[in-house]
Amino acid sequence: MAATPLQVAGIPVSPDHYIDGRRVGSAQRFALHCPIDQGLLGDIAEGSEEHVETAIRAAQAAFPAWSALTAAQRKPYLDRFADEIGKRAEAFCVLESNDAGVLLSRMRHGVVPRAMLNLSYFAEHALTLQDRPIDTPQAHHIVRHDPAGVVVIITPWNAPLMLSTWKLGPALAAGNCCILKPPEWAPLTCSLLADAAHAAGLPPGVFNVVQGAGATTGARLVSDPRIARISFTGSVPTAKWIAQAAGANLVPCSLELGGKSPFIVLEDADIDNAAATGALMYRNAGQVCLAGTRFLVHQNIAEPFIAAMRGYVDKLRIGDPRDEATEVGPIIHMRQVDRVIGFVERALAGGATLLWGGRKHPFGAQYVEPTMLSGVKQDDEIVQNEVFGPVLTLQTFADDEQALELANGTDYGLGGVCYGETAHATAVAQRVRTGFIWVNSFGIRDLAAPFGGIKRSGIGREGGDWSFEFFCDIKDVVVPAKPFRASFSQR
Ligand code: NAD
Repeated sequence: MAATPLQVAGIPVSPDHYIDGRRVGSAQRFALHCPIDQGLLGDIAEGSEEHVETAIRAAQAAFPAWSALTAAQRKPYLDRFADEIGKRAEAFCVLESNDAGVLLSRMRHGVVPRAMLNLSYFAEHALTLQDRPIDTPQAHHIVRHDPAGVVVIITPWNAPLMLSTWKLGPALAAGNCCILKPPEWAPLTCSLLADAAHAAGLPPGVFNVVQGAGATTGARLVSDPRIARISFTGSVPTAKWIAQAAGANLVPCSLELGGKSPFIVLEDADIDNAAATGALMYRNAGQVCLAGTRFLVHQNIAEPFIAAMRGYVDKLRIGDPRDEATEVGPIIHMRQVDRVIGFVERALAGGATLLWGGRKHPFGAQYVEPTMLSGVKQDDEIVQNEVFGPVLTLQTFADDEQALELANGTDYGLGGVCYGETAHATAVAQRVRTGFIWVNSFGIRDLAAPFGGIKRSGIGREGGDWSFEFFCDIKDVVVPAKPFRASFSQR
């Protein structure tokens, strides 16, 4: 039986799953707390074996009709889905600020418009994939992008709406039926997505939301052999587990994982500009996979750079993310706070120097001061492992070769930032071993461009054609250019 909606800051939101076009409740529930003040937001339906089974069956049943539509016929559904997100824009903003602690300003001006674009862009892009021809003297090839089937989408708590729609857009536009497993620490905007999909008239079973813990609900979904694709964004340990489960069934999975990205400041950099961007790495309290967290600064400019960045950090407004003026909000969970502080304490015990921050912030129990540590060595835990909090490190280098050695000296390879004279910075950036890197900038994202990591930061690329290559079965229909007659001497 469906439960009464929760009221989160005056916004009604269902705590239930959304399966086969309707809300489905659960006897088992888990408590959801607000990271800003630890208040109880409500009890959320926990996915059982039966919920997972019903969702897979519903998605399977919806697949023949949904996949039979052309991309042009599916496009209006996705456009309406985007419109329905727009109609609920403020509700999405308030909910994600309350459960994930994401800045309200960022939700309003960045995330919600981007979530809408994630659906409409991929609906449009799917039109370009229909039967791409390749003509040779031998044959006419019709290269088809066929939908793969039922796909499972699993997203983390630091950007649930953005990342869920980033995967749902291409998956649905390609003709797949989806089961979304939202993050258990921040599931509310994924629940509201179901309302938007329902209002947009998506046929029952095409889009389903099954909530619950990763180790139970998530694990059941990714272990099921009926699943055609698994698209996952999250941490490295979970990805290893999922890859093994997927491997047992030979199910392709896309893995977007953590980072330990370098922020390189070359000797010829615009120091003030680089420092202003540097302070941006504390956005979302540092809980951003693509943030540059390892500052590598040329030794001749280290002092003025540190002073300039400190100036920007001192001015950061730390507080309630529901206040438009706030620039740094809370950490998602007490467990994560302890983890972040633990990293700092161990680094200091190992000889690191605190340039600023390093303690819990008085605004609330789940707040940590923007922190910068210097005097760290390349093989230190704090340099090698993702903290996923407002904690950065600073190392200096003497020349480009040393900068690159440090930049490339971790097992991660997600992103990077490189400040310097443009041609110089571009040349250095091209030698940094990551999936992407920003030159004299940060955070410019284009949906047509590839996004993803190398090494421990992931497998696969999302964006543009790359998303469709993952979510589709690519098939070559070969029609001979000349009449074909079988012969054993044929090459
Ligand atoms: P996490 O791996 O703990 O959880 C991510 C999701 O996986 C959650 O929905 C969780 O319930 C689910 N999950 C956990 N165990 C599972 C299992 N056994 N089977 C199936 N699903 C399971 O990650 P997190 O702590 O929520 O997120 C933070 C991590 O995400 C960081 O490492 C961060 O860098 C990464 N991240 C990467 C990107 C990217 O695009 N590369 C973007 C955002 C976050």
